[in-house]
Amino acid sequence: MKKHIILLGPPGCGKGTQSIKIKLMYNYIHISTGDIIRQNIKNNTKYSFFLSKYLNKGKLVPDNLVFQLIKQYLIKKNINNNVIWDGFPRTVKQAKKLNILLNQLGIIKKYIFYFKIDKLILINRLLGRLLCLNCNRIYNISSFSVKTKMICNYDKTQLSKRKDDNFDKILVRLQEYQKFTKPLIEFYLLHNCLTIINANQNIDIIWKNIISIVDK
Ligand code: AMP
Repeated sequence: MKKHIILLGPPGCGKGTQSIKIKLMYNYIHISTGDIIRQNIKNNTKYSFFLSKYLNKGKLVPDNLVFQLIKQYLIKKNINNNVIWDGFPRTVKQAKKLNILLNQLGIIKKYIFYFKIDKLILINRLLGRLLCLNCNRIYNISSFSVKTKMICNYDKTQLSKRKDDNFDKILVRLQEYQKFTKPLIEFYLLHNCLTIINANQNIDIIWKNIISIVDK
């Protein structure tokens, strides 16, 4: 039976870091709507202007466009594998759409994790976050993980800071989270299908928490 892992939580809670670990160690397909959107902007597609307007403000991209981008992405990918969803769904409408898609895919086992984290830890993480635009690995300026300054340990790409990882945009993104994504957490909690992860903990402990459930 195919497994689909869905990671929910505010920006900077560690969803991306855990997704990449799972993708690399368990060969999951990693679907990150944030990465898909950034890739569209980088490739200057017909949506890029519209997408950057939202991204640069820290606002959520409208649901219908997100659905369109996922549809395009899935055409290229063979989804007949285990999947990790990172940053999707972010609204109740998106959650309902994902339910329909997963039902269409047939029998799958669904794991939904909510990364709960203190606001102060989150803001500090986002302010120090560095990204490899080639392999999407995530680093933090305060950690020892960057052996060579500002260079990805794996593919030696120059690391960059995301444009939306500054204080003003972080506040907008957290407001968007409260307004649109928090109700979704409550929706899943009501349906008793959510595992809460203490995302204040370090990467390896969070990883063990997830794997102990998914590997059962
Ligand atoms: P992320 O990389 O997940 O932090 O996403 C970066 C930005 O992309 C967000 O601040 C939104 O503007 C946009 N975005 C990513 N995923 C979604 C989504 N599922 N729905 C709407 N907007 C999204």
